[in-house]
Amino acid sequence: MFMDGAWTDAAGLRQSPVFNPANGEEIARVSYGAYEDAVLAVEAASRAFSVWSKVSAEERAHYLRKVYQLIYEDADRLAEIMTLEQGKPFAEAKGEVLWGADFMLWYAEEARRVYGEIVPPYKTTQKILVQRHPIGVVGAITPWNFPSSMITRKLAPALAAGCTAVVKPAPETPLSAIALFEIFEKAGLPKGTVNLVLGDAAGIGRAMLEHPAVRKLSFTGSTEVGKRLLEQSAQQVKKMSLELGGHAPYIVFEDADMEAAVDGLVMNKFQNNGQTCICANRIFVQDTIAEAFIERFTQKMAEIRIGSGFTEGVHAGPLIHEKALLKVQEHVEDAVSKGARLVAGGARLQGGEYESGFYFAPTVLCHVTPDMKIFQEETFGPVAPIMTFRTEEEAVELANNTPYGLAAYFYTKDMGRTMRVADALAYGMIGINEAVLGYVQAPFGGIKQSGFGREGGRQGIDDYLEYKYLNLNF
Ligand code: ADP
Repeated sequence: MFMDGAWTDAAGLRQSPVFNPANGEEIARVSYGAYEDAVLAVEAASRAFSVWSKVSAEERAHYLRKVYQLIYEDADRLAEIMTLEQGKPFAEAKGEVLWGADFMLWYAEEARRVYGEIVPPYKTTQKILVQRHPIGVVGAITPWNFPSSMITRKLAPALAAGCTAVVKPAPETPLSAIALFEIFEKAGLPKGTVNLVLGDAAGIGRAMLEHPAVRKLSFTGSTEVGKRLLEQSAQQVKKMSLELGGHAPYIVFEDADMEAAVDGLVMNKFQNNGQTCICANRIFVQDTIAEAFIERFTQKMAEIRIGSGFTEGVHAGPLIHEKALLKVQEHVEDAVSKGARLVAGGARLQGGEYESGFYFAPTVLCHVTPDMKIFQEETFGPVAPIMTFRTEEEAVELANNTPYGLAAYFYTKDMGRTMRVADALAYGMIGINEAVLGYVQAPFGGIKQSGFGREGGRQGIDDYLEYKYLNLNF
């Protein structure tokens, strides 16, 4: 763990193992900290806040640019670490590392644009000034599916705003977090500005929410844990950002460019092997083109090569752990038992290179219906459940029929339909003839039970700032 500018072990030298999902082997042991460790980290961050919040925006930008540069120089090593503990193919891991670094650069610029306002006053002898201030110490809890970029996506705007932070990464992927913190150390950030605590998630989360110095918590993870944290945050009325589960619809209308829709779906579905909160999870294809679409999509799926993330030419790696694999299996079995047709895949990959890793075959299901688990919950795996629809209204209704509201996608060439459907879909992000959504310059985030707050874009820094207005009489 990294606290107050120094590397440290957990109290009692407690440790937890880290596994390689490609073969199930233990690859490292890391500190297993607890509530008390998080309190120490928060206190270090709190002391550092009085320094960092007074550093000029220009100087903070300088540090962020340095972190960006150091990540770039070390990207191969960071990507290797990620593939080892998370499983995603090396090229994809490197892409994530570099994308994560881009947040540093983006917010280095935004740090210099935290503008205030001068508002026309009520009286002529008055000035109304609106200023923006860093909120304070920030807690950041991050998931295993993007072990590097979910940390930088929170820390970059927090640091740019003048906040200090305590990070708790997922237990599955602490090595990527440790490697990033080595970079923060190398960049020479003032001690205590960023702190890393590993271990007991519930205890560390509770410490973040119970310590009065922490003024904001940014969480990316499951809706279930997010709700629990939101409840706990009420005690001290802390500001929250929650990026929770998604259940993305992917709608293909009959007038769509079929090849683009197929290619987009393959890419979207196999990014991180289906383990992203914006992966297409319910695919709606207009009935007139459904047969052709399913055939073409299944052909393309057959070209997907699954294997170790270190093998050249592999498109998708293993799932993160056995529990994830069993959930995917359960969703497929439930769907088939309720009448879905298995078009491809459907089972764990075993034997040879797949022995002892958590590999699942790329799977296509059709005749999916709303009573199936796969329609109700996030699957987080390489499964494409396909349903057909007749009209535009029906497609929108089916797509919105979920408590989630993170990402949605649709393919059409009709301009009127584009505007109608974009307006009607209840989602925070919509890809139109486009299956990629994560860009540093765009506000990433959801509505409904997918959470609130935005990461990335001009908006991403707002969560770390507070308004203070001065009423000046003269
Ligand atoms: P997943 O099921 O995808 O692992 P989680 O929501 O469980 O999603 O995990 C996301 C992050 O939240 C991880 O860093 C995890 O350790 C952390 N976490 C899990 N439970 C809690 C909790 N009770 N309080 C705070 N953080 C938690």
